Amino acid sequence: MNAPLHSNTHHAEAPPAARLREIPYNYTSFSDREIVIRFLGEGIWEILNELRSERKTGRSARMLFEVLGDLWVVTRNPYLQDDLLENPKRRKALIDALHHRIAAIDERNTGSTASDKVQKMVNAAKKAVDKFADDFRQTYDLRRKALVKFTKITRKDNVQFDGLARVSHVTDATDWRVEYPFVVLNPDTEKEIAYLVRACIELGLTVIPRGGGTGYTGGAIPLTPMSAVINTEKLDQHTGVQMRTLPGVARQVATIECGAGVVTRRAMEAATDAGLEFACDPTSADASCIGGNVAMNAGGKKAVLWGTALDNLASWRMVTPDAEWLEVERLDHNLGKFMILQSHALK
Ligand SMILES: Cc1cc2nc3c(=O)[nH]c(=O)nc-3n(C[C@H](O)[C@H](O)[C@H](O)COP(=O)(O)OP(=O)(O)OC[C@H]3O[C@@H](n4cnc5c(N)ncnc54)[C@H](O)[C@@H]3O)c2cc1C
Repeated sequence: MNAPLHSNTHHAEAPPAARLREIPYNYTSFSDREIVIRFLGEGIWEILNELRSERKTGRSARMLFEVLGDLWVVTRNPYLQDDLLENPKRRKALIDALHHRIAAIDERNTGSTASDKVQKMVNAAKKAVDKFADDFRQTYDLRRKALVKFTKITRKDNVQFDGLARVSHVTDATDWRVEYPFVVLNPDTEKEIAYLVRACIELGLTVIPRGGGTGYTGGAIPLTPMSAVINTEKLDQHTGVQMRTLPGVARQVATIECGAGVVTRRAMEAATDAGLEFACDPTSADASCIGGNVAMNAGGKKAVLWGTALDNLASWRMVTPDAEWLEVERLDHNLGKFMILQSHALK
């Protein structure tokens, strides 16, 4: 139980609230400092603080924050980006308004009170708005180029640039958000993967494979806007339980051949139907995929008996970061996690 508070604590005057967020529309997990540094650089953040401690440029700082707020709200909202990409007139109106506000800060910085620091701030803000405008043009061009490349490999509707697809792939179970991906790819077949990875490399995109997005380590999170998430959810075919001979293993072994996007629960059900147990049982089994389980070496309660995902892999096929297929088969599988070594220490 919490210790009771003295009654005068309740009546004590609250200290003045610190102004944590001054950039308009910043309801994101990014601090104002991070946003200023993103758009204007670390040096400008220091200049801003110096100017504000001198208490001379409060109005100019507010105007600058309004510009950053507009840049930020669009940068963090793929739906607004789509809207502005499709409406050059609206985009031009926004960019003109941003330049207009920066010009107003510039105009205030004249005469005897003119400051080099404010000038640096203004120059950096102009550059940021120019880059913002350029990014639209580059995004437009790169989308067209990427679409041509990807549609030679996969169906057009498997290539998604839209807000919904990008928002759905910005984070995983960590809820950590850094950048929205440039594109989300949803291949229909495994065969497409190596070609898609090759195309991503040629386009300068970082490739992020994704299963169920239940990862707790942030592995599926884009860290650069130049990334392509390859969603494996359509690779959901499995063979059911099959008895096989594995290299170096004397007896037949129960196996399931799974596509990367098979939901873990489906493999567990197939094993149960055959009167067997699927050894990999993470609590996230209703949403995680076999590819994600292997990548993360997932496991659940059964790991105590039979080990985690990698202990139960007989073989796998993967595309390397160089877009080459690689097949790996385990020899002399020990069919369990624990290699029992004879120990004499406890005699
Ligand atoms: C509620 C909850 C409970 C959980 N319980 C457990 C638990 O009991 N045990 C446990 O181990 N984990 C658990 N986790 C963590 C998570 O579910 C596992 O790590 C799971 O294996 C992730 O699979 P995924 O398909 O969701 O992968 P994702 O989150 O999509 O991806 C995880 C990582 O794997 C990579 N990846 C995904 N698919 C592929 C692929 N085909 N090829 C190459 N790389 C790929 C991604 O790039 C990323 O780096 C839990 C998570 C949640 C949210």
